[in-house]
Amino acid sequence: MALVVQKYGGTSVANCNRIKRVAERVIARKEEGDDVVVVLSAMAGQTNYLIDLALEMQAHPDPRELDVLLSTGEQVTIALFSMAVKEMGQDARSFLGYQVPVETDSAHSKARIQNIPTSKLQEAISKGIIPVVAGFQGVSSTGDITTLGRGGSDTTAVAVAVSLDADVCEIYTDVDGVYTTDPNICPSARKIERISYEEMLEMASLGAKVLEIRSVEFAMRYGMPIHVRSSFTGTPGTMVVKEDELMEDVLVSSVTYSRDEARITIKKVPDRPGIAAMIFNPISDANIIVDMIIQNTRAGDLTDMTFTVPKGDFDQAMSIVEKTAEKIGAESVAGDKNIAKVSIIGVGMRNHAGIASRMFDILARHNVNILMISTSEIKVSCIIDEKYTELAVRALHEGFGLDKK
Ligand code: ASP
Ligand code: MG
Repeated sequence: MALVVQKYGGTSVANCNRIKRVAERVIARKEEGDDVVVVLSAMAGQTNYLIDLALEMQAHPDPRELDVLLSTGEQVTIALFSMAVKEMGQDARSFLGYQVPVETDSAHSKARIQNIPTSKLQEAISKGIIPVVAGFQGVSSTGDITTLGRGGSDTTAVAVAVSLDADVCEIYTDVDGVYTTDPNICPSARKIERISYEEMLEMASLGAKVLEIRSVEFAMRYGMPIHVRSSFTGTPGTMVVKEDELMEDVLVSSVTYSRDEARITIKKVPDRPGIAAMIFNPISDANIIVDMIIQNTRAGDLTDMTFTVPKGDFDQAMSIVEKTAEKIGAESVAGDKNIAKVSIIGVGMRNHAGIASRMFDILARHNVNILMISTSEIKVSCIIDEKYTELAVRALHEGFGLDKK
């Protein structure tokens, strides 16, 4: 007998029928002998709908009231779900964030979970009642309702699992696991059976959108295994586990891509101390996150500085950089929105030399020019021309032996 926390995302609870299907699933699991705690998201689209309503009232909705509003999405699904379970002859009880309580700090819309006392959940479990927890929400020390940030129900689920010392946290979604790359652009993508937390974190930050990043960080910190699987099938999905629990030795476990970045180059910058700070301080003051940075030394004491920012921040970053360029006497500023980042990820890279050069070879063989490169212990990313994204992803997927056998 195991204690399992199951989280169902918005598409799995998108309407009453789907909620009933999930209830059947949960009951079946319980009748097999496991204890199940359920964490739910709002119905698909509901959180966006609520945000739109808020924007009709205030251009910048009051953070406290916005959290009160957004938390209602999950309130609806946990109540409906508990009713469905009761109708099917089992017992369930819904818990809003403050009723558990899921204790957080007071940062509205991006609150961090600090503690989850488990006595109420445990009491329900011991009575055979299925606890149904609202994802994404908590309560601050002042008693205010908080939310954890978009996609935050994943984090609620992992945190509840950790607090209860559950055996596994199952995240049910509309895909049946984590894939070696995006099957939409690479038909030979395969489902990964086991992947490490580190790889999953890289994948999430490099564009794969299966799990919310914070939930993976949380799981990694406490060694909570996550099972990502589909709520529409019964097949096993992907286990996210500690690195030493991986079964096979693979060099590269996945290929990711992102079209969310843009590139800015400042040409002929005077090469002296303090220049980088002068360029990047105003950008970070504007809360724009810079990803890759390259500085090439040119002849004399002038240098080019190239870096990437999220596409959505491109226009603002350009106008900031243009002002800085004038101030420091740089020659000109150029921007390019038509870029993509392709990356290979794998913990196997730690112990193997030559993985990066193999990536460059593969791209070269397909005539894909590399504009920028960055590496970490377990990933290599290249910025390329956006129009070669799919070609590059497929070539790397094949080149590193990830294609379906
Ligand atoms: N309902 C929230 C959102 O859409 C939280 C979640 O679904 O995880 O972001
Ligand atoms: Mg989600």
